[in-house]
Amino acid sequence: MQHVNRYWETETVTKEASLAQADVLKQLIDEAEAIVIGVGAGMSAAAGFTYVGKRFTDAFPDFIRKYRFLDMLQASLFEFEDEQEYWAFQSRFSLLNFFDQPVGQAYIDLRHLMSGENYHVITTNADNAFYAADFDMDNVFRIQGEYGLWQCSKHCHQQTYQDEAIIRQMVREQSNMKVPANLVPHCPKCGAGLEVNKRNEEKGMVEDSHFHEQKERYEQFLKENQGRKVLFLEIGVGHTTPQFIKHPFQQMTEENAKALFVTMNQKDYYIPHAIRHQTVRMDGNIAEVLHASRK
Ligand SMILES: [Zn+2]
Repeated sequence: MQHVNRYWETETVTKEASLAQADVLKQLIDEAEAIVIGVGAGMSAAAGFTYVGKRFTDAFPDFIRKYRFLDMLQASLFEFEDEQEYWAFQSRFSLLNFFDQPVGQAYIDLRHLMSGENYHVITTNADNAFYAADFDMDNVFRIQGEYGLWQCSKHCHQQTYQDEAIIRQMVREQSNMKVPANLVPHCPKCGAGLEVNKRNEEKGMVEDSHFHEQKERYEQFLKENQGRKVLFLEIGVGHTTPQFIKHPFQQMTEENAKALFVTMNQKDYYIPHAIRHQTVRMDGNIAEVLHASRK
């Protein structure tokens, strides 16, 4: 089964078109009084953090051989045969996409573009790209959890945990796609296995005080800028979880005649009629547009 949108791999737009879109973007940012940036998987892919190809096959050749995974997202959602195998995969995944994640140029360009601006970010990406690119994390809301955090697999209490040293030990000491049993982490309250902090369709996600602080800062920003010239800038947001960025952005644009909805996406998603006159679609290469826009 295919889980990953591959739209960012389609090069349909010329470099000239990307440069022209960068000029428009700069102008819209200059004119805006507040910028709300919604960031999805397409942005991390534009920064080189792809879930397919060499980056995936180099890190997980054994798992790909055993389970015939097509991409890293599919693999990360797989029901592994036991906790030792789950952590053999997840520990490598956490280093690659969180603890050892390098700086992405597209994120640096976005940070430069936002310098001196009144902005806030909401992202469905659970990687560490904003932190690695030295963003002020008080301006970033990671609504879908973080690959570096753990939660009780039974969600018995609302607290997350982090232990980078154990993750590194799991990577070092695993063999035949199993970590040693004594490294498998357990919930201190109920004894169930811990798992990576992410949202689950049935159970939702463990949301602790750190999550709620981020959420409050984001909501406060929206409230403070209500009715102003707000630019809702959506970057690489697909249609897997539209309830977090796409739909609220479109809704808030509809409610504010001075707002603009800018969607940077090579895939042409449906735009509601009510906000078409307030929408700018940019189908240029995300990395190129951001690089050409930076101050
Ligand atoms: Zn528990």
